[in-house]
Amino acid sequence: MQKDKIVILGAGESGVGAAILALSKGFEVWVSDAGTIKPVYKELLMQYGIAFEEGLHTKEKIFDAVKVVKSPGIGDHVALIKELRKAGISVVSEIEFAGEYCEAKTICITGSNGKTTTTLMIYEMLKHAGFKVGLAGNIGHSFARQVAECDYDYYVIELSSFQLDGMYDFRADIALLLNITPDHLDRYDYKMENYVKSKFRITQNQTSDDYFIYCGDDAEILNVIDEFPIGSQKLCFSFKSHGECAAVVKDTELCFSVNQNNWHMSIHDLALQGKHNTYNSMAAGLVGTALKIKNQRIRESLMEFRGVEHRLENFLTVHGIDFINDSKATNINSTWYALESMSKPVVWIVGGVDKGNDYSILEELVKEKVKAIICLGIDNKKIHEAFDGIVSQIVDTQSMKDAVANSYHLGNKGDVVLLSPACASFDLFESYEDRGKQFKTAVKEL
Ligand code: ADP
Repeated sequence: MQKDKIVILGAGESGVGAAILALSKGFEVWVSDAGTIKPVYKELLMQYGIAFEEGLHTKEKIFDAVKVVKSPGIGDHVALIKELRKAGISVVSEIEFAGEYCEAKTICITGSNGKTTTTLMIYEMLKHAGFKVGLAGNIGHSFARQVAECDYDYYVIELSSFQLDGMYDFRADIALLLNITPDHLDRYDYKMENYVKSKFRITQNQTSDDYFIYCGDDAEILNVIDEFPIGSQKLCFSFKSHGECAAVVKDTELCFSVNQNNWHMSIHDLALQGKHNTYNSMAAGLVGTALKIKNQRIRESLMEFRGVEHRLENFLTVHGIDFINDSKATNINSTWYALESMSKPVVWIVGGVDKGNDYSILEELVKEKVKAIICLGIDNKKIHEAFDGIVSQIVDTQSMKDAVANSYHLGNKGDVVLLSPACASFDLFESYEDRGKQFKTAVKEL
């Protein structure tokens, strides 16, 4: 009997994982990548004996599929995707495909900012509590490959809106929505409502046994939450102690209350400081409490979490100046939280490729905390327009070495140098990781 065929578009971590899962479920598998496939993934495909092509999409080998799994990098507007849908072929994301075969419980995290940090916090917490747990989605190994080859009881999955767009029947046992601020609008016809809808897909198919955890202080979320048919138990977290939230900050205490389990801890004990990280800790703490992990274990996890590289990472102190690497701050919102959490005078390194930034949102914080600005980008015009006359010293640089040298020169003992660019990195760097690494190298060489 002829086998059904699954076609995978895009041979990265998620695509190759999906191919391995499809193979293990007895499908004929064809992998097609219009670009070049990285050697490590080519080797894996060959090792598993999976057929593939690169540099093109051969239509005849794609349109006889029963299902197409596409990489989150391929948008719904791409002609091939539109044609496939028109031909009645279902096109899904790797997470949706793997979800069909996953028997473990899933904890799914989305939001505009804080996903990686919170996902890792939850993953570490579950491990600390002794759960058999896998890490998947935007970080770690492909979810599909783990479903094919591992035996976990739980998965903690970081989901971008691009992955959510290709999800239909998937159901998260615990869905977590951290915040919504404008991002990636180019993929959403420049309509915020489309991006918001995409984020709310995380609640699809949930039932009364499931949980939806969300930020009760987020205006975008609150505006629309009642428009979505959410079938799960809602738990919100908030800095304001009014209302029905399941996690709130009261003075300096973080208080949790889920199904008659009430417990609290001091916000000073949280390993990650700053308001945004307190939100992330509340969210992670609620997941732990909903899963009935012992309060003491949750507390220990939130106290011991090491943080993630390039996210407000306290790197080094040189002659009394703290150097903080927040290279992952690629939009205004994350930089807002970085500046908000600073308690010493700041020399701020900012700039790169701006996705339509409105710098006026930062004006108050900059006035209050920033003593000097180091622009690091090819085009720094908007930064000058926003802050000339507000900050007395603004310097232009075009290399990290130069930026760090200038920051050191302008900083004094007791100051902090904060790299929080509010922009993407690809004018001068390969990626935000490359930018963060170059920062750390330059600081080490001071
Ligand atoms: P994501 O995976 O959503 O991009 P990360 O955890 O990698 O999020 O953090 C990205 C940036 O956003 C970092 O600069 C970090 O300091 C900042 N950040 C982390 N959590 C939040 C939050 N809850 N709200 C706003 N900014 C945040």
